[in-house]
Amino acid sequence: MGSTIEAVKAFDQVIEPDVVRVALIDTLLDEKFECINVAQMFGEKLYAVRFDTTASRRGNFYRILEECRWELDLRGHGKMKFFVSGGIKEKDVPVLNPLVSGYGIGTAISNAPVVDYAMDIMEVEGRPFSKVGKWGGSKRVVKCAGCGERQIVPNRPVIKQAVCRCGAVIEDILVPVMEEGRALIAAEDASEIRRRTLRNTDGLPL
Ligand SMILES: [Zn+2]
Repeated sequence: MGSTIEAVKAFDQVIEPDVVRVALIDTLLDEKFECINVAQMFGEKLYAVRFDTTASRRGNFYRILEECRWELDLRGHGKMKFFVSGGIKEKDVPVLNPLVSGYGIGTAISNAPVVDYAMDIMEVEGRPFSKVGKWGGSKRVVKCAGCGERQIVPNRPVIKQAVCRCGAVIEDILVPVMEEGRALIAAEDASEIRRRTLRNTDGLPL
């Protein structure tokens, strides 16, 4: 749809009226302007706005929420509540409580240490399209055969043989393993996959 207003309208049209309306507001635009947009469009019909701000853009999350609260109150939307999600930890809750009515918490209460990752839309039918805080477009990962430095590059049909600052050749390390349900590589022994994975993750900032 490409617009938060259109998405909330569509949700409102098809979901039962007894389900409260909560608008996710920082997918495409800045938190402040988007929460003003939805508040002005839906008014009291909207129960809350949800912030799912990526950590990379968040800075001081409390200050962002405070600013949005101010802007909404100023325009007569003092009843509109705030929900937050996206990498929220237990220790954040008491800090944010004065402004926040509800939390979406996942990874921080998982029962084992995890390597956290997210899946996001990056491209729609060949056109780059991603939420605020994410780099648009499909990508490839290349790695220098000499010094091991990795880079993320746009997924172009032909990647020219590039040379690293250290003089070694940069290799494309993304290997397609499946296409339209068909395996493109031979099955490997699980212990060999484990050995290779440990080798490849060595030196990554995990
Ligand atoms: Zn290099």
